[in-house]
Amino acid sequence: MKKETKKINLKGLWLEDYEKILDDFGEKKFRARQLALWIYSKRTTDISQMSDLSKDLRDRLNQIAYIENIRQVKSQISQKDISEKFLFELSDKEKIESVLMWEGKRVTACISTQVGCPLGCTFCATGKMGFKRNLTAGEIVDQAFALANIPVSNVVVMGMGEPLLNYDNTLQALRIINNEVGLSLTAGKITVSTAGIPKMIDKLADENLKVSLAVSLNAPTDEKRSQLMPINKKHPLEGLLKSAKNFAKKKKKRVTFEYVLMKDVNDSEKDALALSKLVAGIPCKINLIPYNSVPDLPYEKPSEEKILAFRDYLYTRCPAVTLRRSKGEDIYAACGQLQTQS
Ligand code: SAH
Ligand code: SF4
Repeated sequence: MKKETKKINLKGLWLEDYEKILDDFGEKKFRARQLALWIYSKRTTDISQMSDLSKDLRDRLNQIAYIENIRQVKSQISQKDISEKFLFELSDKEKIESVLMWEGKRVTACISTQVGCPLGCTFCATGKMGFKRNLTAGEIVDQAFALANIPVSNVVVMGMGEPLLNYDNTLQALRIINNEVGLSLTAGKITVSTAGIPKMIDKLADENLKVSLAVSLNAPTDEKRSQLMPINKKHPLEGLLKSAKNFAKKKKKRVTFEYVLMKDVNDSEKDALALSKLVAGIPCKINLIPYNSVPDLPYEKPSEEKILAFRDYLYTRCPAVTLRRSKGEDIYAACGQLQTQS
């Protein structure tokens, strides 16, 4: 009996992978770029349409490979600001969300790297849904492409999941997004946000891809942070900040510390002071994010007065503090509101 071999999904593979496939067919390696152009630039899903490849090569490719797209099942536009949330269905029926945000000329795609998240931060909707699986590189890339009918100018890896726990696929996707054959986004316009896995931050710092790093700090002491982010018990602040500093130094780029402000949890003057001391000496920006409500979770956004007081207190001690006004809160598209249970 003839053995059935599983077809390969070409989406998510990159030049060296295509070269290998072509080489096995006795084809010239330069055709890898042609293949990549069809998949990532012209975004075809039909191998038969690749008209600059010989009919014979197309037939042989069709026998071993296919090109998969994630399928958009829903999109919702925020009434409050210009952001749009997309729900995608994957080939195994799992669902993920991605968000597009407009700010003047800037169009930012916020993409996911996992279905759910294993890190279980107590304030986060994605953490609440638990972990289903890692996304493939193809599924990560495809979000940026599916959103990019309009040219995307920035990509933030801040959707569902912890990117550094799906390192290889995330990096492969970012390389494709970065390349001129893909979205051609200069790497400075790509930001990876992590809950903080020091070893993987070090690894990212050594890659020849210049992404920006955002670290979700959210609390100024180990005690508080461990309550909010269980990962902190395994990787406490000292090592995390050391890796963040190392990243800033190696990449010659300030690291962003994200700090979700939660009422009566981490929004006091004492917290602000501790935060300023904690990051002193690290080339950084601090991005304050007022908490976005998540059904059934016991956290609240601080009052406007409290938020501004926290910011102003930090201002005098840290060189760069920004207050992020959330996008798409009314459609649950804001930071930490992404979940796909229903
Ligand atoms: N896992 C990564 C990236 C996804 S979370 C990380 O934790 O960094 C993206 C950002 O959303 C993080 O900074 C996180 O702290 C923030 N966030 C999570 N839940 C939130 C909520 N309910 N309101 C506001 N921000 C939230
Ligand atoms: Fe995961 Fe980030 Fe949410 Fe924490 S904040 S549960 S790491 S997605």
